[in-house]
Amino acid sequence: MSMKQSGSGNKSRGIGAQPTSSVTAAAVAAAGNATSTNQELASYFECPVCFDYALPPIMQCQSGHIVCQNCRLKLSMCPTCRGPLGNIRNLAMDKVAATVNFPCKYANNGCQTTLLHTDKPDHEETCEYRPYCCPCPGASCKWQGGLEQVMPHLMSSHKSITTLQGEDIVFLATDINLPGAVDWVMMQSCFGQNFMLVLEKQEKMEGQHMFYAIVQLIGTRKQAENFAYRLELNGHRRRLTWEATPRSIHDGVQSAISASDCLVFDTNIAQLFADHGNLGINVTISMC
Ligand SMILES: [Zn+2]
Ligand SMILES: [Zn+2]
Ligand SMILES: [Zn+2]
Ligand SMILES: [Zn+2]
Repeated sequence: MSMKQSGSGNKSRGIGAQPTSSVTAAAVAAAGNATSTNQELASYFECPVCFDYALPPIMQCQSGHIVCQNCRLKLSMCPTCRGPLGNIRNLAMDKVAATVNFPCKYANNGCQTTLLHTDKPDHEETCEYRPYCCPCPGASCKWQGGLEQVMPHLMSSHKSITTLQGEDIVFLATDINLPGAVDWVMMQSCFGQNFMLVLEKQEKMEGQHMFYAIVQLIGTRKQAENFAYRLELNGHRRRLTWEATPRSIHDGVQSAISASDCLVFDTNIAQLFADHGNLGINVTISMC
């Protein structure tokens, strides 16, 4: 009896509360729907070959199947219906794509960001979930991992690398006359950050050698933009200086070395500054 009364009491309160609660429920359902609709919409843009997203300009086959631009370049027929790929733009899909939030490329690594496709490339470039490669020069180490794992990796797998503390140090490369291609590597620790100094000697035509010196930050590109480095060869009444923004290890140094976007000098210049085959490079890191 009392159960029934209390039950009916609840019921009447329930009725009184119903408009509010049903509105809330509807709003929650709508929000839930919005999320699932966005996910569902994004899934319509999935490339059937690589499962990346086909983004504008979106091209379709004659039957309306889409494929991403990367895969399209490698295909001679539609992967879904095997019909001709043709050259048909799907403008409606382009327009819908502009309103959809797509998951970041590194969603599988834990990134939960979803963004408009126009914002995706910038985010993915600096996404903290994008794996980092081992920053040591040369392709011998295949290690990849998160940014916070880079220093532990260097300390466990590249124990021979020396670290000097301070913003102003001398990077001493010994035996620069060693034949062939050689890399010298050192770590510099300052401003609470770790920088890797690289001197690379490359063999050019006819036994000529070129030296490339560069600094990279164990950090993101954004973090690297807060710093400047100066490399200076100094001695025998001569001075050669290079100043630039450190590279992020996310970008690595190889593309900068190929583009000579670093301190570059040849064997003759190296000899002018070397002392008994050893070359000291003054390295200064500053915040900007
Ligand atoms: Zn694809
Ligand atoms: Zn097709
Ligand atoms: Zn991301
Ligand atoms: Zn490594």
